Amino acid sequence: MPVDLTELNAEELSARHEEYLKAYADLLNEGLSLDLTRGKPAPEQLDLSTGLLGALGEDDYRSADGTDCRNYGGPRGLAEIRELFAGFLQVPAEQLVAAGNSSLALMHDSLSYAVLDGVAGGPGPWRGTTDAPVAFLCPVPGYDRHFSLCDRFGIEMIPVPLNDDGPDMAVVEELVAADPRIKGMWCVPKYSNPTGATYSPEVVRRLATMETAAPDFRLFWDNAYAVHHLTDETVEIADVLALCAEAGNPDRPFVFGSTSKITLAGAGVAFFGSSPANVEWLLKRMSYRTIGPDKVNQLRHVRFLRDAEGLAAHMRRHRSIVAPKFEAVREVLEETLGGSGVAEWTRPKGGYFISLDVLDDCAARVVRLAKDAGIALTPAGATHPGGRDPRDRNIRLAPTFPTIEEVRGAVRGVATCVLLAATERLLEKVGSR
Ligand code: PMP
Repeated sequence: MPVDLTELNAEELSARHEEYLKAYADLLNEGLSLDLTRGKPAPEQLDLSTGLLGALGEDDYRSADGTDCRNYGGPRGLAEIRELFAGFLQVPAEQLVAAGNSSLALMHDSLSYAVLDGVAGGPGPWRGTTDAPVAFLCPVPGYDRHFSLCDRFGIEMIPVPLNDDGPDMAVVEELVAADPRIKGMWCVPKYSNPTGATYSPEVVRRLATMETAAPDFRLFWDNAYAVHHLTDETVEIADVLALCAEAGNPDRPFVFGSTSKITLAGAGVAFFGSSPANVEWLLKRMSYRTIGPDKVNQLRHVRFLRDAEGLAAHMRRHRSIVAPKFEAVREVLEETLGGSGVAEWTRPKGGYFISLDVLDDCAARVVRLAKDAGIALTPAGATHPGGRDPRDRNIRLAPTFPTIEEVRGAVRGVATCVLLAATERLLEKVGSR
């Protein structure tokens, strides 16, 4: 029977602590070498896209409009790949740019152009001063690489709470209305990294309509997991581009996406979608850095995925590999930590991550204990700006890459570390150590 550790007296806690110390010693003896750190597709997932490598025959290099894809040019990307992804990313094909293989690179470039030049129709460069740095709202827990980009460009990060239905809008609205330094906000609107939260239609509507003190405010709408469902429910989000346009804020969203976790993580296609003015703004700046995207890769993606149904069928094959690993995490967490009162975790309906909250001031300890036992976890704090989780309680679990047996072993080990760290902390609190 699970016992709520938070309700035990000092003596009972000590007994539990002894038990978990022993379990941890056993764990150390196992000599594990497991990794739950990064959200990478497993090799079997990459195998699903092997057909991509041979999707183009020797004579197959022309797009529908006759473009020779082997040559330079075509900065927007092929029309057919943009048409294929327009619906999934909720961006009209003519407002979608297909460029490069990494949406993170497009986010990086958009930010650097904004810092250097300012955004379309904006008052000037986003280069802040030491006195008044540019600031971004960062829903937490969030994606560490978004935070690294802010660091990189000297953008101050203001954390806002992420609820199950998206960011806490009362907090967001108050902040953006009051502070003109706040030029942007990171959003992972569907199956967010790391909690799996999906923004409700009401949250999206409020983001689209809210008053911002900065006239050049942008939503960095990172729809990385648009088609990455883990259940029969095909979760949909409101159309941010349409809602912003209706609200008179057509230039507010920068939509990003990619096929990194659809086809090949290192050789996919990335997308930027926005208002016509923003698309022109980006294309103009991109023209300095490239004479055109990899259209051969785009063409083979079109041949391989074919159409919306082909893409959906492909994602169902991913799901059959990924969902059992998520289920394994859930089962092991339930079995080992359910009812313990010292851990909570999310049950995402899609995406790549599970977010585990442990007792306050325990996450760093858990990660260290796990590391010493040969289980690599994302560093504690990584889900918060500056790598600092003020409550030191959040841990991101990424179960896609390891095998299902490795996932079970790793999560079981993590649970032992959570219980040990929790009893240490609770004993400190009751003052008996
Ligand atoms: N955004 C989010 C929210 C992610 O989780 C990831 C990958 N972990 C990325 C972007 C990276 O995307 P890409 O491979 O297109 O650069």
